Amino acid sequence: MHPVIIVHGGAGDIPDSRVQGKLDGVKAAVLTGNKILQQGGSALDAVEAAVISMENDEYFNAGYGSVLNLCGEVEMEASIMCGKNLDVGAVTLIKEFEHPISIAHKVLTDSPHSLLGGEGAKLFAIQKGFATVPPDSLISDNAKHALEEFLKHREFGRTEIGVKDEGGVGTVGAVAIDSKGNVAVATSTGGMSGKAVGRIGDTPQIGSGTYADNHIGGVSTTGHGESILKYCLAHSIIKLIERGSTAKNATEVAVNAMTSRLNNTAGAITLSATGDVGINFSSKRMAWAFIKEAKLLYGIERDQIFEA
Ligand code: ASP
Repeated sequence: MHPVIIVHGGAGDIPDSRVQGKLDGVKAAVLTGNKILQQGGSALDAVEAAVISMENDEYFNAGYGSVLNLCGEVEMEASIMCGKNLDVGAVTLIKEFEHPISIAHKVLTDSPHSLLGGEGAKLFAIQKGFATVPPDSLISDNAKHALEEFLKHREFGRTEIGVKDEGGVGTVGAVAIDSKGNVAVATSTGGMSGKAVGRIGDTPQIGSGTYADNHIGGVSTTGHGESILKYCLAHSIIKLIERGSTAKNATEVAVNAMTSRLNNTAGAITLSATGDVGINFSSKRMAWAFIKEAKLLYGIERDQIFEA
């Protein structure tokens, strides 16, 4: 099996000023993950590394640069899934760690549980040797600005079609298949600007933000969390592939069906078990990049494909 990796950097009404930073960031992330795959590493390690690269990058709403809740705090969420045995690990309400995706990976490998939140997740992370950082060190100027803009209207989830978002978008995700044919998916986010304290979105919920099954494929989603989780968007795409759709068609059909049913936007990246790629978003923009057969393709606008 030839390894394949695809990443996204969040769906939304991304302002022009953030486009180049996101394109650079998704290219760097996909190269990071691909290096691991090319050295014979696992899909799980590749998706974690790709997501870490974007968690470090303030152009994305994950790790450093996460958007803020109504009290001005970062509360992050992440999930990771291995398609071999359907093993999962997820965390939510994380405030003091740089890489929620690595804690989620530890939940997958070193815990009898699937999803840990808040204080329990913090305790688990400390027990496993993760270092805490001051919560304020994760806050970027862009995230502060996005919250200030949100507080002017206070309409949570202004991601409906045609409505302006303030640029507080950029959840990140990665889907990979390694040389052994194992599929893995990772997704990480700061959520949505102005969310209530304790709000949990789609990203840590398996079947909504993330899904992987070696027999079918893998999906990572982004967009309006409350809609994505009602629609179980990742799993809806997986089910369409299982019934015979291509990755491209399944992704397009499910994203558009969610948007017409719930009037909110989303995006998803998909790989079928044979390495076919699906990319679709109903938002204005979504940064993505993939490497397949030594070619790196990327884009952010609808129907736009660049080759690096
Ligand atoms: N889906 C994320 C959430 O609702 C946000 C995003 O993808 O931009 O928490």
